[in-house]
Amino acid sequence: MAGGGILPEVMKDTGNGPQVSPEPIRGPNYVYWGGRNLYVNLTSRCSSACVFCLRTWTWEVYGYDLRLAGSQEPTAGEVITALEYAFLDGAPEEVVFTGLGEPTLRLDVILTVLDWLRTRRVRGRLDTNGQGQLSHPDRDVVADLAAAGLKAASVSLNAADPATYDLVCRPVFEHAFRAVIRFIRDAVAAGIEVTATVVDVPEVDVEAAAELAEELGAGFRVRLHITPDVAPKVRKEAPHGQHA
Ligand code: SF4
Repeated sequence: MAGGGILPEVMKDTGNGPQVSPEPIRGPNYVYWGGRNLYVNLTSRCSSACVFCLRTWTWEVYGYDLRLAGSQEPTAGEVITALEYAFLDGAPEEVVFTGLGEPTLRLDVILTVLDWLRTRRVRGRLDTNGQGQLSHPDRDVVADLAAAGLKAASVSLNAADPATYDLVCRPVFEHAFRAVIRFIRDAVAAGIEVTATVVDVPEVDVEAAAELAEELGAGFRVRLHITPDVAPKVRKEAPHGQHA
């Protein structure tokens, strides 16, 4: 996700305004403000290699360098410490689990932090590529997330059919599109507020994807394809990435 999903959420300038800096703030950055939300950067690893992923040309999101070497991936304790520090600047609307990578690869960290957020009465959201069940075949990922208190998820649907999905997302797993559909369906059934998203690249039939999202009971949002060409124009509103 987030790599692929970061964009729409970051497009929202909800008040504080994204932080724009001439040079990205050097990492490792585990928690950062984007509008009124706090984003949690969990990993740079991903089970996809989307053609539109921000990290094909930058690791900078909201002025922060999000690149994490494997040894730099935060523990739950490090995330909670960073959140406590960030909370000193005020309570966020949401804490969003993301990364320029797929956050469900750090499922246990998400679950622990969600539990902590519940005690603080702060809403948690997940930006995901929806392939978490394939990475954790021995778990019930959606049930675990719902039980830990996840309120919302932005899921990168990214296509209306498996062939297009494989073309634009290039997942390492077979039948990944089927897993994404199941993730959305299960999350909706579990009472999680789901928004399915697509990036506006020419290969994707946006209308068909919108219809599919509606069939699945999810909301729908189209994300701008951020490229080096358009980035300077949208930078003030969205110096962010391209994930869910
Ligand atoms: S799901 Fe796609 S866009 Fe998101 S981080 Fe992975 S490769 Fe990038």
